[in-house]
Amino acid sequence: MTRVTVWNEYRHERESDVVADVYPDGIHAVLADVFEEAGFEVETATLDEPEHGLSEDVLDRTDVLTWWGHAAHGEVDDRIVDRVQERVLDGMGLLVLHSAHYSKIFKRLMGTTCSLKWREAAETERLWVVEPGHPIADGVDEYIELDEAEMYGERFDIPAPETLVFTSWFEGGEVFRSGCCYRRGNGRVFYFRPGHETYPVYHDEAVQQVLVNGVRWAAADDGPTPTFGNADPIEPIDMSDDRTVH
Ligand code: ZN
Repeated sequence: MTRVTVWNEYRHERESDVVADVYPDGIHAVLADVFEEAGFEVETATLDEPEHGLSEDVLDRTDVLTWWGHAAHGEVDDRIVDRVQERVLDGMGLLVLHSAHYSKIFKRLMGTTCSLKWREAAETERLWVVEPGHPIADGVDEYIELDEAEMYGERFDIPAPETLVFTSWFEGGEVFRSGCCYRRGNGRVFYFRPGHETYPVYHDEAVQQVLVNGVRWAAADDGPTPTFGNADPIEPIDMSDDRTVH
């Protein structure tokens, strides 16, 4: 069974009535319900827990980690970022949600600023599926329409995705690469844009479908773990002219 750990900054929900109305028990609680219903084994972890809830033990039993953060990216301990990065390179899947585009872990894994344009005007967003055969688009219509969304616009300063599954259009005119797949080491990383804290985006069934698909995709086992470094020949070859400098 796929084991998911849902990580949430969990500050807005406790500090803002507007946000608490939409996510009374936190964004992580809604996501945890979605993943449990999909049959995953789910834990949650939040910023203010010791080690941000991401101890070695928790990560040992995590196949896919989902990450939502916004106002407190700078408070995430670099040692935990190192730990999560190491796990991703080792094969753990990572879903990076909405404003987590600016999280330390996503910037670390991308190597770019991950900056973008934004505007908060409760405008319509249409997320077009641009890779219909992709498992992350499974069961989704040609596009997902959200009545109220925060706008994120290009340019989004990320490396070109290995696969782009969604492109968003916004009522105000901008477009955005909203569903981006990467591999880093043995791990799979999916960035998915929807999810602003003051709009009920994570209550949308199509968005939930994509999140579940994203976990399934990110949990996939890619086969053998590669070995690195100096290699003995598999077939008999003449090694007498080895010029390696030690
Ligand atoms: Zn937002």
